[in-house]
Order: sequence, then structure tokens, then C-alpha cells
Amino acid sequence: MDNNIYVTKTTMPSFEEYAEEIKDLWDTHILTNMGAKHQKLCSELKQYLGVEHVDLLTNGHAALEIALEALQLEGEVITTPFTFASTTHAIVRNGLTPVFCDVKEDDFTIDVDKIEELITEKTCAIMPVHVYGNICDVERISEIARKYGLKVIYDAAHAFGCTYKGRGIASFGDVSCFSFHATKVFNTIEGGAICYHNENLGQKISELKNFGIHDAETVHYAGCNAKMNEFCAAMGLCNLKHIDTAINCRKKVYERYHMNLKGIPGIRVNSVKEEVGYNYPYYPVLFDKAAFGHDRDEVASALANHGIYARKYFYPITNSFACYKNKYDPGMTPIADKLGKSVLTLPLYDSLQMEDVDRICDIIRHL
Ligand SMILES: *Cc1c(COP(=O)(O)O)cnc(C)c1O
Repeated sequence: MDNNIYVTKTTMPSFEEYAEEIKDLWDTHILTNMGAKHQKLCSELKQYLGVEHVDLLTNGHAALEIALEALQLEGEVITTPFTFASTTHAIVRNGLTPVFCDVKEDDFTIDVDKIEELITEKTCAIMPVHVYGNICDVERISEIARKYGLKVIYDAAHAFGCTYKGRGIASFGDVSCFSFHATKVFNTIEGGAICYHNENLGQKISELKNFGIHDAETVHYAGCNAKMNEFCAAMGLCNLKHIDTAINCRKKVYERYHMNLKGIPGIRVNSVKEEVGYNYPYYPVLFDKAAFGHDRDEVASALANHGIYARKYFYPITNSFACYKNKYDPGMTPIADKLGKSVLTLPLYDSLQMEDVDRICDIIRHL
């Protein structure tokens, strides 16, 4: 055990609860290939997320890749660079071209006013990200998509359990993909899900995640292997029982940070839109050196000196990755570039103690 505080700490059920959940796997010997736990988690998630169709995968990245593949897209996908590597890589790995739209300064999501100018005859889809659980302008994105005949695939990795105007967030767009990685609000150790509306996509997704196999003697696609296994599904079943409690604990941490940091000159905290039911996934803070006296990197190293490891999410932004050098230009998305250079994500998880939040904020205030 160390006394360091990291940006997150995985939410886990008690050992006994998990042991009880996996016990019958020693009777059935069915550990994967859409067994009973996979089926049960699927149906419980439909209920919780308020969507009709859900499929489970090995991770959130596989969900994004398979969603894009299932939609049979070709050409350009409008997306944002202020995100995790996965979003952009999923587009590129499908042979598609990412076209980077800038984000809004106030909530880090795609700037809908800048989408239309990026649309060409090659544009096939928009892939926005609900960054930090901040919900994109889903209504305007739907309008634009309808006007130009584009698909909408949401990277909802941060938005598990979020609602907009009372509706589950995955009810917007053609497809929404969640990540159930250990660091996320809801985890299945590693895992992910695709939520979709068009029933016809279902069979394709379930075949693509299982080598493209249709039945014993027919293979439809050159698919991959991205099936969630029973141990992961069992972890999900346990964690789902406590998800509302976990989100509520996160809310208390989030509000404690707000109490300590809101209003300090040169510090900007996140704000959530009124119609959004929020899940408190991260605590991003923006530092303006001119007003606060210290930049993001100085704050990060001061915290690290006290054993507190905040993270620079999202820095670097994806269009400035070494692997995309000379392909994309971060200068085209100046706001995302600026946000990436000034944001620091502070520790936030359900078991973080209020004293620790206060201590973190004291270090920042007394720099
Ligand atoms: C975590 C994450 C992913 C990828 O999910 P994995 O389950 O880790 O594969 C994709 N997009 C965003 C924005 C993420 O934060």
C-alpha cells in the first residue's frame, strides 16, 4: 500500500460479492462466448441506460472500431482532437480520414457552429465526444446529420449514466459507445458497449465481434475477436448494483472541489448544463498563468511533490500525436490546443476522502 493519490481508483464490489457472482462458473464451465452473465448484463444495461439495443465488447476502443465498421462508412469523419487517443485511432484504423473540428471553450465538446464548413462530398459521419460527461449539443448535431445525410457515432466513454432532458444519453445519434475500463465511472475490469437504434445493425455487430461467424458453416465478415468474457460481465453485474451510490460519492467529491476552487482568479472549473443528469467522472481544472500566477505544469509538479498524481487529460491533443505528424495540424483547432495546454484533471473517485480533497486544494491555493 502506498499513500499516494492517483487520478482515479477503480470502484470494486466486496470480494465476497464478486466471489458469489462467479461461483457458478465452476459449475457451467462457460467462461465466454455470450454466456449467462453476458446476457444478464446486457439486459440490465438496456434498462439502466434506457436504450433498446446494447452489445458488449472487450473494451471501449473495440466498441468504437466495430461501430464504425458495422455502419460501412467510407471517406471523412468529422471529430474532435480534445479526446483520448482511442477516438481518432478508431477512425484511422477503419481506413477513414478524421477531419478535426474545434471544440467549444466552455465545455470541451464539438463546436457545432464549425461543423458545416468542414463538410465535403466525402463526409460520411460525425463522431463527437461527450468529454468529461459534458453532453454535446445533441439536438443541433442531429439536425446537421439529417440535413447532410450523415451518421452520428458518439464516443460516450465518459458519459455512462448521463441523461439529457431526462433521456438516456445513448438514445441520441445512430450509435453510442461506452468504455467500461477500470478507470471509468462504471467498470467491468476491461469492457465496452455499443448502443444502437437500427435493429439491422445488431446481427452485424455481434458477428463482427466474433470473427464474422454467422453460423457453424457460414462466415460473413473478416471480423475480429472482441467478446466480453464472463468474469468481466460478472464484475459489471456487481458494480451495476452499486452504481448510483458510487456516482453519489463522486458528486460529493466534485462539490467539495467546487467549494474549494470556484471563484479563485485564474482557475476555471467545469460547469454542467442545466438539462443534463451528470455522472461526475472527472474534475478538470484550467489554469491561466497570468491570473493565477502558475501554469498547469507547475501545479501538476507541485502536487506530484506531495504524492498526488493529477493527469493532463487531454494533452497532447490527438492531432498533434507523433504518429500523425505532418498529417494533421493542431493549429486548425486552436481552442482544443489551448485547452490541452492548460487543463489538469484532479483525482476523483468514489472512495476519495474529503480531507484529501481539501489537502489537494490547499496545495493548489498556497502555491
Ligand atoms: C477510455 C476511453 C476510450 C477507450 O475505452 P477503452 O475501454 O479503454 O478501450 C475511448 N474514448 C474515450 C474518450 C475514453 O476516455
